[in-house]
Amino acid sequence: MQAPLIELTSITKRFPGMTALNNVDFSIEPAEIVCLAGENGSGKSTLIKVLSGIYRPEQGRLVFDGEEIATLSPREAIARGVQVIYQDFSLFPNLTVAENLALSRFLGEKRQLMNRAEARRIGQEALDRLGVSIDLEAEVGSLSTADRQLVAIARALMSPVRLLVMDEPTTALTGREIDRLFALVREIKAKGIAVLFVSHKMREMLEISERIVIFRNGRKVAEGSTADFTEGSITKAMTGQDIGGE
Ligand code: ADP
Ligand code: MG
Repeated sequence: MQAPLIELTSITKRFPGMTALNNVDFSIEPAEIVCLAGENGSGKSTLIKVLSGIYRPEQGRLVFDGEEIATLSPREAIARGVQVIYQDFSLFPNLTVAENLALSRFLGEKRQLMNRAEARRIGQEALDRLGVSIDLEAEVGSLSTADRQLVAIARALMSPVRLLVMDEPTTALTGREIDRLFALVREIKAKGIAVLFVSHKMREMLEISERIVIFRNGRKVAEGSTADFTEGSITKAMTGQDIGGE
């Protein structure tokens, strides 16, 4: 078996008066689609922030590609291919699609000016890579949520990404938009990129993921191949209650 892309062991992250992650083990393989499930406050976003170097856990080991990282900074996480799409997408609403995409390239360089043609070229390339068409000259703030999300995904894929993390990506999408997102997730997997998908919607988890990891109160309470879960068993793990129907 190949080495995991990322392996976290015994991760504990505390906030004043509470333990957001309690001795959690978590790993993801290259090109694997994993759903991280759990009720509000169960520690999902905290895990993402540990993975992306935003929070430093009080305890635990982080191993990327078989190499232990003593302290993972946000820069190191990006260099190792972790890209996170947050619920607000972190785009500039008053800039155009092309400018948003080109800016992420330019921020990584010591450049101060970009001209419109160059921004368009970079933006077009990024959208083409994703196989979507969006007006490059539209202000991002004027786009639908689904299109803004596509711009955020296109931007994430401009870097050498190996793990794309999406925090509750379907919250504001219609059924049709969710189908389009899932088709894209499968294409992203086909490029060899792993996808970690945070959700608490059963139908979505069962449809898109290959493996499901369930958190409750900061602990990992269930984990396994998606085929081994049912809506009932997921609910039971998430809530700790047997609601019947199995
Ligand atoms: P989820 O994403 O599963 O809803 P979170 O990881 O955001 O859960 O939060 C887990 C717990 O940690 C919650 O009780 C939340 O209030 C707490 N928490 C998260 N971030 C912070 C923070 N920066 N400061 C204090 N408490 C936090
Ligand atoms: Mg969250």
